[in-house]
Amino acid sequence: MSSISSPRAALVLPLAYAKELLGPLAGKLDIAKSALFYYLLVIYARKAYWHLRARGITASVKDVYLLVSQFVVRLFLRLPSMQRKVTTEMGKARLDIENKLVPKGPNVVRHLTLPEDGKSLDWILAEMEKMDIELTGQSGIWNEGKLSGAVYHGGEELQKIITTAYDRYCVSNPLHPDVFPAVRKMEAEIVAMVLKLYNGPDTGCGVVTSGGTESIIMALKTYRDWGRKVKGITEPEIIIPASAHAAFDKGAAYFNIKVHVIPVNSYTRKVDLKHVKRAINPNSILLVGSCINYPDGAQDDIAGLSELALKYNLGVHVDCCLGSFIVPFLEPAGLSNGDERGKYKLAPFDFRLKGVTSISCDTHKYGFAPKGTSVIMYRTPELRRFQYYVNPHWTGGVYASPSISGSRPGALIAGAWAVMQHIGTKYVASPVAVQFTDPHGYERGYLDSCRSIVLATRRIADAVSASIPELYVLGDPPASVVAFGSKHPQVDAFEVGDAMSKRGWHLASVTNPKAIHLAVTRLTVPVVDTFLADLKDAVQEAKLAPSGKGTMVALYGLGESSAVGPEMVGEIATAFLDTLYKA
Ligand SMILES: *Cc1c(COP(=O)(O)O)cnc(C)c1O
Repeated sequence: MSSISSPRAALVLPLAYAKELLGPLAGKLDIAKSALFYYLLVIYARKAYWHLRARGITASVKDVYLLVSQFVVRLFLRLPSMQRKVTTEMGKARLDIENKLVPKGPNVVRHLTLPEDGKSLDWILAEMEKMDIELTGQSGIWNEGKLSGAVYHGGEELQKIITTAYDRYCVSNPLHPDVFPAVRKMEAEIVAMVLKLYNGPDTGCGVVTSGGTESIIMALKTYRDWGRKVKGITEPEIIIPASAHAAFDKGAAYFNIKVHVIPVNSYTRKVDLKHVKRAINPNSILLVGSCINYPDGAQDDIAGLSELALKYNLGVHVDCCLGSFIVPFLEPAGLSNGDERGKYKLAPFDFRLKGVTSISCDTHKYGFAPKGTSVIMYRTPELRRFQYYVNPHWTGGVYASPSISGSRPGALIAGAWAVMQHIGTKYVASPVAVQFTDPHGYERGYLDSCRSIVLATRRIADAVSASIPELYVLGDPPASVVAFGSKHPQVDAFEVGDAMSKRGWHLASVTNPKAIHLAVTRLTVPVVDTFLADLKDAVQEAKLAPSGKGTMVALYGLGESSAVGPEMVGEIATAFLDTLYKA
């Protein structure tokens, strides 16, 4: 007799069997589940702990407070009446930006479709002249030198050299070195010359990029891939000073890298090394320092960062995008020891520090090369390889490119090479080199330009400290950038900035603390006295009649005064970007 007497009974046996079989397995599954749970718990707890340690208790509490208050304010802003108000205000801001940037009126000719018959060169030049005059009231407002950074030479002879070199290599493309071998050679030589300036080791190498931002973004890509390959890091983190350039945040946002922003000492303006050390954890790939930084021109303690990096096997990137062709010349120009009081000293910053693994240097800033050129340097070729993109499988053939761009403008490389060859280093040791008499000519030699620019910066810093009691100089800037904050309760630094705008100056603003910033260039050197006189007047104006209406005050004041301030400022900045593309 068969024991299987019904379909139901037929199921019982195998089920019982299955249960017997799966029972222990189910138990194991439970164990696996809890193991996974505890594993994730440990992972997240570790991360939270690292974050807390890097950020610090006080800052973390502030962060939480800010998050909560932002949330509350956002709820409040959802009210229909509030929303109407916000929309109206944003509309006004948008219109304001548009009125400032986009020419209006019946007389403005807009070129919105291709002309049927191509135009002559004469027509093109006449149209450009017309646009300049219409939009600025003169042909090129940068000429007067009343601006911070932005234009770094303005020498007519140099401009001729750039355009001539550009002309010769107008159609060249380094993507095809077989077609343009001279461009390949020039790029390699630019890297070699800049490496020499930064005391690169024998193994030193680099790449020419389109600018400081690309140099920094490429460095981040390099360390991300290095961290993955060498240390098995899949969730990379970098540690940067609060004074580091926004390009680091930008690159990290592109590559999904976590950024720890470390405060700078409010007196020295250098990154707090103890705090940097606390932020190091097993996911760290890179420490960053600037020489010099953009906001206030200070230099971080690169030697300290280098030691930390050697101890924990991390990369150190030194951002010399702004320091470019100034900081390497301070020592040979006899300016690295500062003045007789020991102010404005420069500490070591280059490859002579063993832990420094990469440096970015903008040839298009104080190298006076055409805009669109920078150099990213590495200590070893092994490190540089992590920057490359290579695809052996592409249908279009084996594809290998060193940086973000595919095709690149060889003409800019030729321009940079020509400028560097033309200027050279020669130092004319006469007082004439230090006098700033010729507004548009430039004295030969990077040593000379370093000397005149840096001495002009120090003269400005000294004069402000000595004769404008309402202001103070941030930190002890060793090179070409200086920033001023207010120490007077009735003087708002941004009001001073706005009062300077009325006097024709285009200065930049620094937040935290509020300050205005000046990057001294060849163009500012001859107008130092005007700058100081205008600054004195501007301080008095800000003190006597605080208006609170200027652009700097309006934009950055908003950022500080409310929980959603930064978000609103972000909205306005986005509207600004939109407006750039309004024909
Ligand atoms: C200008 C600058 C950069 C970025 O350079 P871009 O050429 O504008 O992309 C990076 N770091 C510092 C300190 C800078 O001043």
